[in-house]
Amino acid sequence: MKTYEEYLESLRDGREVYYRGERVEDITTHPILKHTPRFLGRLHHGEGLTEQQIEDYFFVHPETGQRLSKFYKIPMSSEDLMERYKITYNFTKDSLVNIAHIGSDMFTAMKMVSHYMGDEYAARADKFSDYLINNNPILAGAQMDVKGDRSLRPSQQKDPDLYVHVVEENTDGIIVSGAKTHTSWAYGANEILVIPSRAMGPEEEDYGISFVIPANTKGIRMICRPALEAETAKLPMENVRMRISGHFTEAMVIFDKVLIPWDRVIVYKNGAVASQLALAFALNHRFTAVSYRASLATFLVGMTKLISEYNGVEKVAHIVKNMATLISYAEIQNVCAKVAAYECQIDPKTGIALPNPLYTNIGKLYSNQQHMKSKEAVIDTAGGMAITAPGAEDYLNPELQKDIDKYLAGHNVSGNDRFKLFLLLREGLGLYGGLEDVAELHAEGSMWPSIMELSRGYDYTDIKKTILDFIEE
Ligand SMILES: Cc1cc2nc3c(=O)[nH]c(=O)nc-3n(C[C@H](O)[C@H](O)[C@H](O)COP(=O)(O)OP(=O)(O)OC[C@H]3O[C@@H](n4cnc5c(N)ncnc54)[C@H](O)[C@@H]3O)c2cc1C
Repeated sequence: MKTYEEYLESLRDGREVYYRGERVEDITTHPILKHTPRFLGRLHHGEGLTEQQIEDYFFVHPETGQRLSKFYKIPMSSEDLMERYKITYNFTKDSLVNIAHIGSDMFTAMKMVSHYMGDEYAARADKFSDYLINNNPILAGAQMDVKGDRSLRPSQQKDPDLYVHVVEENTDGIIVSGAKTHTSWAYGANEILVIPSRAMGPEEEDYGISFVIPANTKGIRMICRPALEAETAKLPMENVRMRISGHFTEAMVIFDKVLIPWDRVIVYKNGAVASQLALAFALNHRFTAVSYRASLATFLVGMTKLISEYNGVEKVAHIVKNMATLISYAEIQNVCAKVAAYECQIDPKTGIALPNPLYTNIGKLYSNQQHMKSKEAVIDTAGGMAITAPGAEDYLNPELQKDIDKYLAGHNVSGNDRFKLFLLLREGLGLYGGLEDVAELHAEGSMWPSIMELSRGYDYTDIKKTILDFIEE
C-alpha cells in the first residue's frame, strides 16, 4: 500500500462487498465503487494533486522515509491541531467534497486510551502505529452500531448482535459478532478500526471492546449504500466530477463471528476505558466536522453570490441579508474550529492534544442547527431554477444547447455559463443535497450528544458565584 498502485492491488483481496444486491469481486473496476479508491488515492497518495498540494497535505516520516498524509500525525499541541484544522478545511475546498478523516480521528483516540488499559495494550497500539507509518494503509472508522431499540441499553436488546460484542475468547484472540452501520469508505479501506458507540456500564463488559482488523478478514460482510450518479459527471466539468461521482458511500459492516487476534485488540472488557474512547473519538471527530463544514459552507457563499450576480439581484436588500446569513454560517464555524484548536486540552498520560470540548460542541451544534436556514438563504436567492434547469444530456445536444444559451442568459452572463452553475446547484442542493442534509444533521453524531455535553461540561461556577455575590450585596 506504499504507492497508489499497491493500494489498488491491495483491494483485490477477496473482501466481501455487496452493491445493490450483487457481490462485487473487484471494487477497483466497479462502475460506481471504483470512485472511492480514486478519491482515497488522492487523499492518501496524492494522486492528481499539484506539488504544492502534496507539500501542504503530506509529510515524510522521519523514521521510515514513507510519505504519509498529515492526517496520520498524532496531534501533540495546539499547533498540531491547527494544522489538522487547516488540512481538513483546505482539502475540502480543493476537492469540492467533505474530508472527514474518521480513521485518524479514531486512531488518535485509540492510541490515547490504550495507555489507560496498561502496558500490554499500549504496546499493541504502538505495534499498529509502526505498521501504519511503514505501510500507509487506509483506515475506516466504525463506531456506530445498528442499535436496535434505542430505548434499551446494549445488554437489554433482544438480539445481542445489535451492538458489536465478544462471543468467545481463545488463545488466538477474541471472536466478535454484531454490525456497525453508516461506515464511510469501509469497502475501500485496508483496515477497519472498531470502537464502542456509547458509554458502557459494568454489566456490559462484552461490549466494552475496541480492535483493528483488515477489511478482508473472514466473516466481515459489507453492504454498501447505493450512490447517486451525477449529471455534472456527464459534462466536461472535470473539476466537479470528484464531488458527486467520485464521492464515497457508506456501508453496513457485519461481523459474523470474526476472529480478532490478540495483538489487534486495543480495549477489552473494560467499560470505563471503552466509554473514554467513545467520548475522545467523538470529540476529535466533531472538531473535524466543524473544520470541513466551515469549508463546505464557503461553497454556499460563493454559489449564492454568483447566482445573485448572474440574476442581477445582488444589491437587493433581502438578497444582501441572505449573503450575511451564509457568511455568518461559514465564519462562525471557522472561528469555533480555530478556537477549539487554540484552547486545546492535553491528555496527562500521553501528551496527546484534544480539541477544546466547549468550542467543538458549540461549533458542531451550530452547524447542525443552522444548516437548513443556510439552505433557505441559497434557495431564496436562486429561485426555482435551483431545481428546474434542463439536464446535462440537453446541454450535450447541440440544438438544445443553443436554446439553453439563449434562454437562460442572465445579467452579463451567457445562458450556458448560468446553466452550468444551476446544474451544480441542483446537484449540491436538490439531489446530492438530500444526502447532505442527513449528513449535516447526523454525521459525526446527532445534535443531542452535543447538547448533553455542553450542558454537563460547561463550567457554571464563576458566573453563578458572581450573580450570588450581587444578590448578597
Ligand atoms: C453520511 C454519514 C456518514 C457517516 N459515517 C460514519 C462512519 O464513518 N463511522 C461511524 O461510526 N458512523 C458514521 N456515521 C454515523 C453517525 O455518527 C450517526 O448517524 C449518528 O451518530 C446518529 O446515529 P443514528 O444514525 O444511528 O441515529 P439514531 O441513533 O437512530 O438517532 C435518531 C434520533 O434519535 C435520538 N436518539 C437515539 N437514541 C437515543 C437515546 N438513547 N436517547 C435519546 N435520544 C436518542 C437521536 O439523538 C436522534 O435525534 C455517519 C452518518 C452519516 C449520515
